[in-house]
Amino acid sequence: DNDLVRKDFIMLMYDIVIIGAGTAGMSAAIYGVRSGKKVLLLEEKNYGGQIVNTPEVENYPGIIKTSGFEFATNLFNQAKSLGAEIKYEKAVEIKNNGVLKEVVTNKETYETKAIIIATGAKNRSLKLDKEKELIGSGVSYCATCDGMFFRGRDVAVVGGGNTALEDAMFLSNYCNKVYIIHRRDKLRGEEKIAKAISEKDNIEMVWNSNVVKLIGDDKVEGITVKNSVDGSEKDIQVSGLFIAVGQEPDNYDFEEVVELDDKGYVIAGEDCKTESKGIFTAGDCRTKNVRQLTTAASDGAVAAIGACEYIDSELDTKNTK
Ligand code: NAP
Repeated sequence: DNDLVRKDFIMLMYDIVIIGAGTAGMSAAIYGVRSGKKVLLLEEKNYGGQIVNTPEVENYPGIIKTSGFEFATNLFNQAKSLGAEIKYEKAVEIKNNGVLKEVVTNKETYETKAIIIATGAKNRSLKLDKEKELIGSGVSYCATCDGMFFRGRDVAVVGGGNTALEDAMFLSNYCNKVYIIHRRDKLRGEEKIAKAISEKDNIEMVWNSNVVKLIGDDKVEGITVKNSVDGSEKDIQVSGLFIAVGQEPDNYDFEEVVELDDKGYVIAGEDCKTESKGIFTAGDCRTKNVRQLTTAASDGAVAAIGACEYIDSELDTKNTK
């Protein structure tokens, strides 16, 4: 019996548990296992994170062109072949018991010496009535995933950033008409793509407007938009609404052990250290100025090396092994 208990204990004991298998988390895993650490990657959904929805990646140094899916798959295979373990479980709580910490998932509890929170960010919703219910029935957050279903139809994209503009360009190749609903009269996205948009005959800008209602019971049949300057409202008939209004983090499950800023990002500097010893954070989920593929990968390396140093120096000198 004792052996059994001991076996279970060893099985669940890790050096580093990484929460989130996006670019930051998987990069951290590579650095962790290459330093000889026992690493567990926890992922709620699918590995890869946000980049899997990007059709073309052209700004990752050293890779001229790849797809987000291929990039993520290579990164995953690299981390796995080097020895990282992956489990598809949602981390719901961190218990910071000092030297030994616990990560509680929806299935299991894992003991670990160090933790890296790399939960990324998820698409921000518009918080419209029925927005959630109609996902897959006209509401989408991913034009490259779902655009094909709207071939020949009229659709709307909400947002004025690069994602919304790229989505609109992509959709304009398949759809009859694309409306871009933006809450201001100036785009946030880059000039180059804004110019390409202005040259497209089937894209119409709807400025100074917010979507206030989804029309349709079982599927999207239209939207109501409200003009923020004169307060007027109008209905636009569309069968798809692509929401591209940026991302937001989701770290509230961990707010008892790490400090979050007012938007919910884990507070940490470029060293990826949180206020709790042995708990690190990497990638889009932390406070930072530049959220890019390169900075996510970079954070992964910094956080993992920080975690290894913490385990090797601070924990070992306390004779806690
Ligand atoms: P973003 O740059 O944060 O833009 C979000 C857009 O949504 C903004 O125009 C914003 O309006 C609008 N918005 C936010 N909340 C809203 C709400 N509640 N209702 C209505 N509109 C709302 O997000 P993103 O476009 O997803 O881009 C994220 C980052 O990835 C950026 O740094 C971007 O440059 C980068 N990116 C790069 C590429 C590329 O290089 N090819 C492609 C995609 C994304 P306001 O403008 O009024 O704030």
